[in-house]
Amino acid sequence: MSTAPADRPPSVERLLGHFAAAAPTAQYGRRALTDAIRAVLAEIREGRAALVPAEALLARAERRLEAENRPSLRPVFNLTGTVLHTNLGRAPLPPEAARAVAAVMTGASNLEFDLERGERGERDDHVEALICRLTGAEAAVVVNNNAAAVLLVLNALAMRKEVIVSRGELVEIGGSFRVPDVMARAGCRLREVGTTNRTHLRDFDEAIGPRTGLVMKVHTSNYAIQGFTAEVAEAELHRLCAERGIPFAVDLGSGNLIDFSAYGLPPEPTVRAALAQSDLVTFSGDKLLGAVQCGIIAGRRALVARVRKNPLKRALRVDKMTYAALEATLRLYLHPERLHERLPALRLLTRPQTDIIALAERLRPAIVARTGEGVQVSIEPCTSQIGSGALPVETLPSACLALRPPPAVGRRGEGAWLKALGARLRALPVPVIGRIAEGALRLDLRTLEDEAGFLTTLDAFDAALKA
Ligand SMILES: *Cc1c(COP(=O)(O)O)cnc(C)c1O
Repeated sequence: MSTAPADRPPSVERLLGHFAAAAPTAQYGRRALTDAIRAVLAEIREGRAALVPAEALLARAERRLEAENRPSLRPVFNLTGTVLHTNLGRAPLPPEAARAVAAVMTGASNLEFDLERGERGERDDHVEALICRLTGAEAAVVVNNNAAAVLLVLNALAMRKEVIVSRGELVEIGGSFRVPDVMARAGCRLREVGTTNRTHLRDFDEAIGPRTGLVMKVHTSNYAIQGFTAEVAEAELHRLCAERGIPFAVDLGSGNLIDFSAYGLPPEPTVRAALAQSDLVTFSGDKLLGAVQCGIIAGRRALVARVRKNPLKRALRVDKMTYAALEATLRLYLHPERLHERLPALRLLTRPQTDIIALAERLRPAIVARTGEGVQVSIEPCTSQIGSGALPVETLPSACLALRPPPAVGRRGEGAWLKALGARLRALPVPVIGRIAEGALRLDLRTLEDEAGFLTTLDAFDAALKA
Protein backbone atom coordinates (compact mmCIF):
# COMPACT_ATOMS: atom_id res chain seq x y z
CA MET A 1 0.00 0.00 0.00
CA SER A 2 1.26 3.45 -0.81
CA THR A 3 1.70 5.86 2.08
CA ALA A 4 1.56 8.93 -0.15
CA PRO A 5 -1.45 11.20 0.36
CA ALA A 6 -4.42 10.23 -1.79
CA ASP A 7 -7.53 12.25 -2.44
CA ARG A 8 -9.57 9.67 -0.51
CA PRO A 9 -8.60 8.24 2.88
CA PRO A 10 -7.80 4.51 2.94
CA SER A 11 -10.33 2.17 4.49
CA VAL A 12 -10.11 1.12 8.13
CA GLU A 13 -9.44 -2.48 7.05
CA ARG A 14 -6.55 -1.50 4.81
CA LEU A 15 -4.95 0.63 7.51
CA LEU A 16 -5.38 -2.10 10.11
CA GLY A 17 -3.99 -4.73 7.76
CA HIS A 18 -1.01 -2.57 6.98
CA PHE A 19 -0.24 -1.92 10.65
CA ALA A 20 -1.17 -5.31 12.11
CA ALA A 21 2.37 -5.76 13.43
CA ALA A 22 2.77 -2.14 14.62
CA ALA A 23 3.39 -1.35 18.29
CA PRO A 24 -0.04 0.25 19.06
CA THR A 25 -1.81 -2.96 18.07
CA ALA A 26 0.15 -4.91 20.65
CA GLN A 27 -0.13 -2.20 23.30
CA TYR A 28 -3.80 -1.26 23.07
CA GLY A 29 -5.33 -4.20 21.20
CA ARG A 30 -6.97 -4.47 17.79
CA ARG A 31 -10.40 -3.34 18.95
CA ALA A 32 -9.15 -0.05 20.50
CA LEU A 33 -6.91 0.67 17.50
CA THR A 34 -9.83 0.10 15.12
CA ASP A 35 -11.96 2.60 17.05
CA ALA A 36 -9.15 5.16 17.06
CA ILE A 37 -8.56 4.80 13.31
CA ARG A 38 -12.31 5.16 12.69
CA ALA A 39 -12.34 8.38 14.71
CA VAL A 40 -9.32 9.75 12.82
CA LEU A 41 -10.92 8.93 9.45
CA ALA A 42 -14.22 10.48 10.56
CA GLU A 43 -12.39 13.74 11.32
CA ILE A 44 -11.06 13.81 7.77
CA ARG A 45 -14.43 12.89 6.24
CA GLU A 46 -16.15 15.66 8.21
CA GLY A 47 -13.50 18.17 7.22
CA ARG A 48 -12.17 18.67 10.76
CA ALA A 49 -8.68 17.44 9.84
CA ALA A 50 -6.53 17.30 6.72
CA LEU A 51 -5.82 14.12 4.83
CA VAL A 52 -2.25 12.94 5.45
CA PRO A 53 -0.25 9.83 4.44
CA ALA A 54 -1.14 6.55 6.14
CA GLU A 55 1.88 6.65 8.50
CA ALA A 56 0.71 10.01 9.80
CA LEU A 57 -2.86 8.71 10.15
CA LEU A 58 -1.57 5.91 12.32
CA ALA A 59 0.45 8.39 14.41
CA ARG A 60 -2.76 10.40 14.93
CA ALA A 61 -4.61 7.28 16.02
CA GLU A 62 -1.78 6.46 18.40
CA ARG A 63 -1.90 9.94 19.97
CA ARG A 64 -5.65 9.49 20.48
CA LEU A 65 -5.07 6.18 22.23
CA GLU A 66 -2.35 7.69 24.41
CA ALA A 67 -4.64 10.52 25.47
CA GLU A 68 -7.54 8.14 26.17
CA ASN A 69 -5.32 5.89 28.26
CA ARG A 70 -3.73 8.62 30.33
CA PRO A 71 -4.97 8.42 33.93
CA SER A 72 -7.44 11.14 34.83
CA LEU A 73 -5.96 11.60 38.31
CA ARG A 74 -2.25 12.23 38.09
CA PRO A 75 0.63 14.09 39.73
CA VAL A 76 1.14 17.81 39.08
CA PHE A 77 3.67 20.40 40.20
CA ASN A 78 1.89 22.65 42.69
CA LEU A 79 3.72 25.96 42.29
CA THR A 80 0.72 28.08 43.28
CA GLY A 81 2.28 29.29 46.51
CA THR A 82 -0.42 27.57 48.57
CA VAL A 83 1.30 24.69 50.32
CA LEU A 84 -1.77 22.72 51.48
CA HIS A 85 -3.92 23.33 48.40
CA THR A 86 -7.31 21.62 48.74
CA ASN A 87 -7.84 21.41 44.95
CA LEU A 88 -4.36 19.93 44.51
CA GLY A 89 -4.73 17.21 47.12
CA ARG A 90 -3.62 19.01 50.33
CA ALA A 91 -0.72 17.44 52.22
CA PRO A 92 1.93 15.44 50.33
CA LEU A 93 2.49 12.18 52.21
CA PRO A 94 5.84 11.01 53.53
CA PRO A 95 7.40 7.96 51.81
CA GLU A 96 6.85 6.01 55.04
CA ALA A 97 3.09 6.44 54.53
CA ALA A 98 3.26 5.47 50.86
CA ARG A 99 5.15 2.28 51.78
CA ALA A 100 2.67 1.42 54.51
CA VAL A 101 -0.25 1.85 52.09
CA ALA A 102 1.45 -0.27 49.45
CA ALA A 103 2.09 -3.01 52.01
CA VAL A 104 -1.60 -3.49 52.86
CA MET A 105 -3.42 -2.48 49.70
CA THR A 106 -2.98 -5.50 47.45
CA GLY A 107 -3.66 -8.26 49.95
CA ALA A 108 -5.37 -9.16 53.19
CA SER A 109 -4.53 -7.29 56.40
CA ASN A 110 -5.51 -7.33 60.08
CA LEU A 111 -7.73 -4.28 59.56
CA GLU A 112 -10.40 -5.51 61.98
CA PHE A 113 -8.69 -8.55 63.40
CA ASP A 114 -6.97 -8.92 66.75
CA LEU A 115 -3.89 -11.03 66.01
CA GLU A 116 -3.22 -11.84 69.68
CA ARG A 117 -6.66 -13.16 70.51
CA GLY A 118 -7.46 -14.40 67.04
CA GLU A 119 -10.84 -12.69 66.96
CA ARG A 120 -12.60 -9.65 65.56
CA GLY A 121 -10.83 -6.39 66.32
CA GLU A 122 -11.56 -2.68 66.03
CA ARG A 123 -10.12 -0.73 63.08
CA ASP A 124 -9.43 2.38 65.16
CA ASP A 125 -7.05 0.28 67.31
CA HIS A 126 -4.31 0.80 64.71
CA VAL A 127 -4.06 4.52 65.50
CA GLU A 128 -5.97 5.21 68.70
CA ALA A 129 -3.09 4.68 71.13
CA LEU A 130 -0.80 6.83 68.96
CA ILE A 131 -3.35 9.66 68.79
CA CYS A 132 -3.86 9.50 72.56
CA ARG A 133 -0.12 9.55 73.20
CA LEU A 134 0.36 12.57 70.92
CA THR A 135 -2.63 14.59 72.15
CA GLY A 136 -3.38 13.53 75.73
CA ALA A 137 -6.83 12.25 74.67
CA GLU A 138 -8.37 9.24 76.41
CA ALA A 139 -9.83 7.81 73.19
CA ALA A 140 -10.10 8.56 69.48
CA VAL A 141 -12.10 7.71 66.37
CA VAL A 142 -11.18 8.23 62.70
CA VAL A 143 -13.69 9.09 59.93
CA ASN A 144 -13.66 10.26 56.31
CA ASN A 145 -12.74 13.91 56.91
CA ASN A 146 -13.20 16.66 59.46
CA ALA A 147 -16.59 17.60 58.05
CA ALA A 148 -17.66 14.01 58.77
CA ALA A 149 -16.11 14.24 62.24
CA VAL A 150 -18.19 17.32 63.08
CA LEU A 151 -21.35 15.76 61.63
CA LEU A 152 -20.83 12.60 63.66
CA VAL A 153 -20.09 14.41 66.93
CA LEU A 154 -23.17 16.60 66.54
CA ASN A 155 -25.42 13.67 65.68
CA ALA A 156 -24.05 11.40 68.40
CA LEU A 157 -24.14 13.95 71.21
CA ALA A 158 -26.92 16.37 70.34
CA MET A 159 -29.53 14.87 68.00
CA ARG A 160 -32.90 16.63 68.61
CA LYS A 161 -31.16 18.94 71.03
CA GLU A 162 -29.70 22.41 70.93
CA VAL A 163 -26.09 23.14 70.16
CA ILE A 164 -24.84 26.47 71.42
CA VAL A 165 -22.35 28.26 69.16
CA SER A 166 -21.01 31.81 69.18
CA ARG A 167 -22.39 33.90 66.33
CA GLY A 168 -18.83 34.90 65.35
CA GLU A 169 -17.99 31.27 64.59
CA LEU A 170 -20.77 30.32 62.17
CA VAL A 171 -18.21 29.80 59.48
CA GLU A 172 -18.21 28.48 55.95
CA ILE A 173 -15.15 26.57 54.83
CA GLY A 174 -14.40 26.07 51.15
CA GLY A 175 -17.97 26.86 50.16
CA SER A 176 -19.31 23.44 51.07
CA PHE A 177 -18.90 23.16 54.82
CA ARG A 178 -21.17 25.59 56.63
CA VAL A 179 -21.59 25.09 60.33
CA PRO A 180 -25.35 25.90 60.35
CA ASP A 181 -26.03 23.48 57.46
CA VAL A 182 -24.01 20.65 58.98
CA MET A 183 -25.86 21.20 62.22
CA ALA A 184 -29.25 20.90 60.50
CA ARG A 185 -28.17 17.71 58.70
CA ALA A 186 -26.99 16.25 62.00
CA GLY A 187 -30.48 16.76 63.39
CA CYS A 188 -29.46 19.46 65.87
CA ARG A 189 -30.98 22.85 66.57
CA LEU A 190 -28.53 25.70 66.35
CA ARG A 191 -28.64 28.16 69.22
CA GLU A 192 -26.55 31.21 68.35
CA VAL A 193 -25.27 33.43 71.12
CA GLY A 194 -23.51 36.80 71.17
CA THR A 195 -22.89 38.99 68.14
CA THR A 196 -20.57 38.61 65.17
CA ASN A 197 -17.69 40.39 66.85
CA ARG A 198 -18.38 39.94 70.59
CA THR A 199 -19.52 37.00 72.67
CA HIS A 200 -19.37 36.84 76.47
CA LEU A 201 -19.52 34.01 79.00
CA ARG A 202 -22.89 35.24 80.28
CA ASP A 203 -24.32 34.72 76.76
CA PHE A 204 -23.53 31.01 77.05
CA ASP A 205 -24.65 30.85 80.70
CA GLU A 206 -28.09 32.24 79.81
CA ALA A 207 -28.49 29.96 76.78
CA ILE A 208 -27.76 26.66 78.54
CA GLY A 209 -30.98 24.89 79.51
CA PRO A 210 -32.72 21.51 79.57
CA ARG A 211 -32.67 21.26 75.76
CA THR A 212 -28.91 21.85 75.43
CA GLY A 213 -27.00 18.86 74.05
CA LEU A 214 -23.62 20.40 73.36
CA VAL A 215 -21.64 23.61 73.43
CA MET A 216 -19.34 23.89 70.43
CA LYS A 217 -16.48 26.17 69.63
CA VAL A 218 -15.40 26.45 65.97
CA HIS A 219 -11.86 27.53 65.26
CA THR A 220 -12.26 30.42 62.81
CA SER A 221 -9.54 29.01 60.65
CA ASN A 222 -10.11 30.69 57.29
CA TYR A 223 -10.73 34.26 58.34
CA ALA A 224 -9.98 36.64 61.16
CA ILE A 225 -12.35 39.05 62.85
CA GLN A 226 -10.33 42.03 63.89
CA GLY A 227 -10.94 45.24 65.81
CA PHE A 228 -13.51 45.51 68.62
CA THR A 229 -13.81 41.82 69.39
CA ALA A 230 -14.34 39.58 72.36
CA GLU A 231 -14.46 35.83 72.53
CA VAL A 232 -14.85 33.62 75.54
CA ALA A 233 -11.71 31.83 76.66
CA GLU A 234 -12.00 28.08 76.19
CA ALA A 235 -10.98 27.40 79.80
CA GLU A 236 -13.86 29.54 81.12
CA LEU A 237 -16.36 27.98 78.78
CA HIS A 238 -15.13 24.52 79.68
CA ARG A 239 -15.58 25.26 83.39
CA LEU A 240 -19.11 26.56 82.77
CA CYS A 241 -20.05 23.48 80.73
CA ALA A 242 -18.62 21.15 83.38
CA GLU A 243 -20.68 22.89 86.07
CA ARG A 244 -23.84 22.54 84.00
CA GLY A 245 -23.11 18.96 82.91
CA ILE A 246 -22.92 19.76 79.17
CA PRO A 247 -20.16 18.39 76.91
CA PHE A 248 -17.94 21.02 75.30
CA ALA A 249 -16.48 20.24 71.83
CA VAL A 250 -13.97 22.22 69.80
CA ASP A 251 -13.80 21.98 66.01
CA LEU A 252 -10.16 22.80 65.52
CA GLY A 253 -10.01 22.36 61.73
CA SER A 254 -6.28 22.19 61.16
CA GLY A 255 -5.14 20.15 64.11
CA ASN A 256 -1.52 20.61 65.04
CA LEU A 257 -0.02 17.80 67.04
CA ILE A 258 3.03 19.86 67.93
CA ASP A 259 3.73 23.52 68.57
CA PHE A 260 4.79 24.82 65.17
CA SER A 261 6.34 27.95 66.63
CA ALA A 262 9.22 25.67 67.70
CA TYR A 263 9.98 25.36 63.96
CA GLY A 264 9.76 29.08 63.32
CA LEU A 265 6.17 29.03 62.07
CA PRO A 266 3.36 31.20 63.42
CA PRO A 267 1.70 29.61 66.46
CA GLU A 268 -1.51 27.65 65.87
CA PRO A 269 -3.42 25.92 68.70
CA THR A 270 -2.38 22.32 69.27
CA VAL A 271 -4.83 19.48 69.80
CA ARG A 272 -3.28 18.86 73.22
CA ALA A 273 -3.87 22.48 74.29
CA ALA A 274 -7.46 22.40 72.98
CA LEU A 275 -8.14 19.11 74.77
CA ALA A 276 -6.85 20.49 78.05
CA GLN A 277 -9.76 22.95 77.88
CA SER A 278 -12.52 20.87 76.31
CA ASP A 279 -14.05 17.40 76.23
CA LEU A 280 -13.77 16.57 72.56
CA VAL A 281 -11.76 17.92 69.62
CA THR A 282 -12.26 17.37 65.87
CA PHE A 283 -9.54 18.00 63.28
CA SER A 284 -8.38 17.12 59.75
CA GLY A 285 -5.72 14.55 58.91
CA ASP A 286 -4.53 16.29 55.73
CA LYS A 287 -4.14 19.89 56.83
CA LEU A 288 -1.24 20.88 59.10
CA LEU A 289 -1.01 17.34 60.46
CA GLY A 290 0.41 16.42 57.05
CA ALA A 291 -1.17 13.00 56.62
CA VAL A 292 -4.00 11.54 54.58
CA GLN A 293 -7.57 12.78 54.17
CA CYS A 294 -9.48 11.87 57.32
CA GLY A 295 -11.15 13.43 60.32
CA ILE A 296 -10.07 12.65 63.86
CA ILE A 297 -12.32 12.86 66.92
CA ALA A 298 -10.35 12.75 70.15
CA GLY A 299 -11.23 13.31 73.79
CA ARG A 300 -13.05 11.88 76.80
CA ARG A 301 -13.53 8.12 76.73
CA ALA A 302 -17.27 8.15 77.48
CA LEU A 303 -18.01 10.70 74.75
CA VAL A 304 -15.84 8.93 72.15
CA ALA A 305 -17.65 5.69 73.01
CA ARG A 306 -21.01 7.35 72.20
CA VAL A 307 -19.56 8.63 68.92
CA ARG A 308 -18.23 5.17 68.01
CA LYS A 309 -21.57 3.47 68.73
CA ASN A 310 -23.46 5.86 66.44
CA PRO A 311 -24.64 4.17 63.20
CA LEU A 312 -23.23 7.07 61.16
CA LYS A 313 -19.72 5.95 62.16
CA ARG A 314 -20.23 2.91 59.93
CA ALA A 315 -21.18 5.16 57.02
CA LEU A 316 -18.29 7.55 57.56
CA ARG A 317 -15.52 5.08 58.34
CA VAL A 318 -12.24 4.96 56.39
CA ASP A 319 -10.49 2.05 54.73
CA LYS A 320 -7.23 0.20 55.32
CA MET A 321 -5.17 2.53 53.13
CA THR A 322 -6.13 5.53 55.23
CA TYR A 323 -5.25 3.79 58.49
CA ALA A 324 -1.92 2.64 57.04
CA ALA A 325 -0.98 6.15 55.88
CA LEU A 326 -2.20 7.80 59.08
CA GLU A 327 -0.40 5.35 61.37
CA ALA A 328 2.91 5.71 59.49
CA THR A 329 2.67 9.51 59.53
CA LEU A 330 1.75 9.67 63.23
CA ARG A 331 4.81 7.55 64.05
CA LEU A 332 7.03 10.28 62.59
CA TYR A 333 5.71 12.60 65.31
CA LEU A 334 7.27 10.35 67.95
CA HIS A 335 10.60 11.73 66.78
CA PRO A 336 10.00 15.51 66.74
CA GLU A 337 13.69 16.44 66.27
CA ARG A 338 13.58 15.01 62.74
CA LEU A 339 9.98 15.83 61.89
CA HIS A 340 10.80 18.92 59.81
CA GLU A 341 12.96 16.74 57.54
CA ARG A 342 10.66 13.74 57.30
CA LEU A 343 7.16 15.23 57.15
CA PRO A 344 6.80 16.84 53.69
CA ALA A 345 4.15 19.38 54.74
CA LEU A 346 6.34 20.68 57.57
CA ARG A 347 9.49 20.50 55.44
CA LEU A 348 7.88 22.69 52.77
CA LEU A 349 6.41 25.11 55.28
CA THR A 350 9.73 25.59 57.06
CA ARG A 351 11.89 25.83 53.93
CA PRO A 352 14.12 28.90 54.29
CA GLN A 353 13.70 31.66 51.70
CA THR A 354 17.45 31.54 50.96
CA ASP A 355 17.08 27.90 49.80
CA ILE A 356 14.16 28.83 47.58
CA ILE A 357 16.11 31.72 46.03
CA ALA A 358 19.07 29.40 45.39
CA LEU A 359 16.72 26.95 43.66
CA ALA A 360 15.27 29.77 41.53
CA GLU A 361 18.79 30.79 40.49
CA ARG A 362 19.61 27.21 39.47
CA LEU A 363 16.39 26.86 37.46
CA ARG A 364 16.30 30.25 35.76
CA PRO A 365 18.86 29.48 33.01
CA ALA A 366 17.07 26.19 32.21
CA ILE A 367 13.79 28.00 31.75
CA VAL A 368 15.35 30.83 29.75
CA ALA A 369 16.98 28.24 27.47
CA ARG A 370 13.64 26.54 26.89
CA THR A 371 11.61 29.67 26.27
CA GLY A 372 14.19 31.53 24.19
CA GLU A 373 13.63 35.23 23.53
CA GLY A 374 9.88 34.79 23.80
CA VAL A 375 9.48 34.98 27.56
CA GLN A 376 11.02 37.25 30.18
CA VAL A 377 12.00 35.24 33.26
CA SER A 378 12.91 36.93 36.52
CA ILE A 379 13.39 35.85 40.11
CA GLU A 380 11.19 37.76 42.54
CA PRO A 381 10.34 37.58 46.23
CA CYS A 382 6.78 36.48 47.01
CA THR A 383 4.79 35.08 49.90
CA SER A 384 3.46 31.55 50.21
CA GLN A 385 0.31 30.68 52.08
CA ILE A 386 -0.16 27.68 54.32
CA GLY A 387 -3.57 26.89 52.83
CA SER A 388 -6.51 24.73 53.90
CA GLY A 389 -7.73 27.58 56.01
CA ALA A 390 -4.82 27.36 58.42
CA LEU A 391 -3.38 30.64 59.65
CA PRO A 392 -5.20 32.72 57.02
CA VAL A 393 -3.50 35.97 57.83
CA GLU A 394 0.02 34.58 58.08
CA THR A 395 2.26 34.23 55.04
CA LEU A 396 5.72 32.74 54.52
CA PRO A 397 8.49 34.64 52.68
CA SER A 398 9.32 32.79 49.48
CA ALA A 399 10.65 33.31 45.93
CA CYS A 400 9.13 32.73 42.52
CA LEU A 401 10.05 32.66 38.86
CA ALA A 402 7.96 35.38 37.25
CA LEU A 403 7.24 34.78 33.54
CA ARG A 404 6.25 37.84 31.51
CA PRO A 405 5.48 38.40 27.82
CA PRO A 406 8.05 39.97 25.49
CA PRO A 407 7.56 43.76 25.10
CA ALA A 408 6.03 43.24 21.63
CA VAL A 409 2.91 41.71 23.26
CA GLY A 410 2.04 45.02 24.89
CA ARG A 411 -0.28 45.71 27.81
CA ARG A 412 -3.43 44.89 25.87
CA GLY A 413 -2.24 41.45 24.86
CA GLU A 414 -0.76 40.62 28.25
CA GLY A 415 -3.79 38.94 29.82
CA ALA A 416 -4.40 36.58 26.92
CA TRP A 417 -0.68 35.80 26.64
CA LEU A 418 -0.46 34.88 30.34
CA LYS A 419 -3.57 32.70 30.10
CA ALA A 420 -2.15 30.88 27.08
CA LEU A 421 1.15 30.34 28.88
CA GLY A 422 -0.72 28.95 31.90
CA ALA A 423 -2.60 26.53 29.62
CA ARG A 424 0.67 25.39 28.04
CA LEU A 425 2.20 24.71 31.42
CA ARG A 426 -0.87 22.71 32.43
CA ALA A 427 -0.59 20.65 29.22
CA LEU A 428 2.92 19.40 30.08
CA PRO A 429 3.40 15.64 30.74
CA VAL A 430 3.46 16.50 34.45
CA PRO A 431 1.26 19.62 34.52
CA VAL A 432 2.76 22.71 36.16
CA ILE A 433 0.24 24.85 38.06
CA GLY A 434 1.26 28.44 38.72
CA ARG A 435 -0.59 31.63 39.56
CA ILE A 436 -1.18 34.76 37.49
CA ALA A 437 -0.71 37.93 39.52
CA GLU A 438 0.50 41.46 38.83
CA GLY A 439 1.18 40.96 35.14
CA ALA A 440 3.19 37.75 35.48
CA LEU A 441 2.72 34.02 35.65
CA ARG A 442 4.34 33.16 38.96
CA LEU A 443 5.86 29.82 39.89
CA ASP A 444 6.40 29.83 43.67
CA LEU A 445 9.28 27.40 44.20
CA ARG A 446 8.70 26.73 47.92
CA THR A 447 6.88 23.52 47.04
CA LEU A 448 9.23 22.32 44.29
CA GLU A 449 11.40 19.45 45.52
CA ASP A 450 11.72 17.26 42.42
CA GLU A 451 14.04 19.55 40.50
CA ALA A 452 15.07 16.86 37.97
CA GLY A 453 11.45 15.88 37.27
CA PHE A 454 10.54 19.54 36.78
CA LEU A 455 13.31 20.00 34.21
CA THR A 456 12.25 16.83 32.39
CA THR A 457 8.66 17.98 32.07
CA LEU A 458 9.91 21.39 30.90
CA ASP A 459 11.60 19.73 27.91
CA ALA A 460 8.10 19.28 26.49
CA PHE A 461 7.34 22.95 27.24
CA ASP A 462 10.15 23.81 24.86
CA ALA A 463 8.54 21.76 22.08
CA ALA A 464 5.08 23.18 22.82
CA LEU A 465 6.29 26.77 22.71
CA LYS A 466 8.22 26.40 19.48
CA ALA A 467 5.45 24.44 17.79
C1 LIG B 1 -11.15 22.50 57.23
C2 LIG B 1 -12.15 22.59 58.30
C3 LIG B 1 -13.26 21.75 58.32
C4 LIG B 1 -13.49 20.71 57.26
O1 LIG B 1 -12.47 19.76 57.27
P1 LIG B 1 -12.28 18.74 56.05
O2 LIG B 1 -11.16 17.87 56.49
O3 LIG B 1 -11.98 19.57 54.86
O4 LIG B 1 -13.56 18.00 55.91
C5 LIG B 1 -14.16 21.89 59.35
N1 LIG B 1 -13.97 22.81 60.32
C6 LIG B 1 -12.92 23.66 60.33
C7 LIG B 1 -12.78 24.68 61.42
C8 LIG B 1 -11.96 23.57 59.32
O5 LIG B 1 -10.91 24.41 59.31
